[in-house]
Amino acid sequence: MKFATKAIHAGQEPDETTGAVMTPIYQTSTYWQESPGKHKGYAYARGKNPTRSALEKCIASLENGKHGLCFSSGMGATDAVIKLLQPGDEVITGNDLYGGSYRMFTKVFAKFGIKFHFIDLTDANNINNFLNEKTKLIWVETPTNPTMQIIDISVCAEIAKKHNVILAVDNTFASPYLQNPLDLGADIVMHSVTKYLGGHSDVIMGALVTNDDTIYEQLAFIHNSCGATPGPMDSFLVLRGIKTLHLRMKAHCENAEVIANYLKKHPKIEKVYWPGFADSQNHEIAKKQMRGFGGMISIVLKNASLEHTFKIASSFKVFTLAESLGGVESLINHPASMTHASIPKAEREAAGVVDNMLRLSVGVEDISDLMEDLKTVLAKIYKLC
Ligand SMILES: *Cc1c(COP(=O)(O)O)cnc(C)c1O
Repeated sequence: MKFATKAIHAGQEPDETTGAVMTPIYQTSTYWQESPGKHKGYAYARGKNPTRSALEKCIASLENGKHGLCFSSGMGATDAVIKLLQPGDEVITGNDLYGGSYRMFTKVFAKFGIKFHFIDLTDANNINNFLNEKTKLIWVETPTNPTMQIIDISVCAEIAKKHNVILAVDNTFASPYLQNPLDLGADIVMHSVTKYLGGHSDVIMGALVTNDDTIYEQLAFIHNSCGATPGPMDSFLVLRGIKTLHLRMKAHCENAEVIANYLKKHPKIEKVYWPGFADSQNHEIAKKQMRGFGGMISIVLKNASLEHTFKIASSFKVFTLAESLGGVESLINHPASMTHASIPKAEREAAGVVDNMLRLSVGVEDISDLMEDLKTVLAKIYKLC
């Protein structure tokens, strides 16, 4: 089946009891057993719920994977992957990670004796310089947040296979519509379902997908043992949202392309990060591993102080100033004080996350309204700085 058909149908059959076309919300914590241990495959809803099972199958199918697991947040999903490791194990990861992943690695798991190397992955061969017999996991995010670095997943996968290390890819920014890391050799795909998969800014959820039966068994054990599992209502909302993923992603990409090209020519914008520019970092790799360039754009305002940047960020009428991304509505974010505030200033700036940077999550509104909003706000820069 093709992507659009899978987005609408994968994992979903008319309900056995009533014929309901849409998967019902099985709002139950427990299930009847005919005699102890004899049940219809469902015993307790932390372990399994039919609404969640349908969604897990759907997301797995969109990532061309065999097994899917949904979590109560993206961080819950990441947490489960790190729990595959033991004290003493080492992880190689990028230096431009989602702030929450960086915080979890450094503030939670480092104290359990897991060592993280945050390195420049724009040349994936750098991994070789940090590999040793303790390396058990390579954790990659691409495109990165907020500087839209592109990391070559195939090269990471080749190195991971050669050294028998697990490769996990945070595919949140691209979504399965634009990029399928398992097809490129990754072992695990992680999503903050909160973003493009859910798509309507009304749910917090995470997901993992893998083709590896052993990794799946281990993750499913952690999933049920540690309990970061989502409820049936949230699973239903995502099943509903995901049905338009292909339509939304196409519109996000189209709108973002128009906006990125406009911003690149704007005299008061110092830099535009968007992987679709021919001169963007690793553009050839982006073209090879992605089917489009996504809806995320970061900009650096020319000569703008922190105060000016705050003023600009607060002046939009259609773009909403808020954390998060990937919903139908356009959002604007100030990474240094919002999404990336948990990263120390020096490290943040070394990674390009400067005080005068803003990140746009381009939504699927009418492009003329988005453009008018941007033009009106950017006109203010001339008065400010
Ligand atoms: C939001 C996000 C996460 C965390 O997901 P939550 O659903 O907020 O827990 C992880 N990675 C990336 C790239 C994200 O954007």
